Amino acid sequence: MPFATIDIKDDYAITDVPQIRLKRNIENEQIKNDQIKKKKGKDYQPNYFLSIPITNKEIIGGIKILQNAIIQQDKRLAKAMVSDGSFHITLLVMQLLNEDEVNIGINALLELKPCIEEILQGKHLTLPFQGIDTFGNQVGFVKLAEGDHIIPLLEIAETAKKTFQEKGILAGESRSFKPHLTFMKLSKAPWLRKNGVKKIDPELYEKFISHKFGEELCSRIDLCSMLKKKQSDGYYHCESSIVIGEKDGGEPDDAELVRLSKRLVENAVLKAVQQYLEETQNKKQLGEGSSVKIEEAERNGNDSDNNRK
Ligand code: AMP
Repeated sequence: MPFATIDIKDDYAITDVPQIRLKRNIENEQIKNDQIKKKKGKDYQPNYFLSIPITNKEIIGGIKILQNAIIQQDKRLAKAMVSDGSFHITLLVMQLLNEDEVNIGINALLELKPCIEEILQGKHLTLPFQGIDTFGNQVGFVKLAEGDHIIPLLEIAETAKKTFQEKGILAGESRSFKPHLTFMKLSKAPWLRKNGVKKIDPELYEKFISHKFGEELCSRIDLCSMLKKKQSDGYYHCESSIVIGEKDGGEPDDAELVRLSKRLVENAVLKAVQQYLEETQNKKQLGEGSSVKIEEAERNGNDSDNNRK
């Protein structure tokens, strides 16, 4: 799960993107990031994210073997491992503070779909994973291999950020986007630090340093909650999804339809309950108002009682 409060210094700007592209974007990016920083201030606490779920069993199996190999060397690290139902690539983090903002996020995700189709131009987005790295020896991740997939992936991440920000959503981070597949993070078990485990020792994963984990064919992007209870399959609570990389433009799949209708029903019930509560409250207040007036008259203007509601 992305956890934006952890202040891990970002010394890991992407090096495998053509320099021309980077130069062209770097000034605009800097200005935008400065604006985001100012606008967000200290209150910016991402609680939602766009996720590309990792579903390829070969990748998941490879990561399980890696995790077990690490646990064999230090049993305490078991608690730092990411569970296999929740492997993902984070495309974008954002803050959605209430139901309305979540709905705006869902609309932004739907708007993103045609933009992604345009970026992919009918091609599939396949992400190959190879080797291991860490963020400051605190977060262990499987690296995205270099190749032609990097450019469309970065474009998708950038377009997502723009699409969500244009809807008024606080989204993105000031550090550069570095696609990664997290398999462990020390922050999952803060007591490890007190017990002397302050870093992920590179020796723990040295056998996997250039291991090929496999390729993920990206077919979905989910809008997930960082904080809500995870689904029964171990994956994050998902508000909405888009299917990507389909040649026919794509009908929503069954899971998506079920989620959409569930959400519509939930919203309708919520609105009805709110309306009922408001009406009841109004009636109560009207009733109370008249009885208060009668009481007031009866008490010949006893002021202290008028402050009770
Ligand atoms: P995620 O895999 O997105 O759940 O991220 C795992 C952790 O890595 C989170 O604590 C993030 O804050 C952290 N993280 C993500 N991107 C970076 C980055 N570019 N530099 C340092 N830490 C990062």
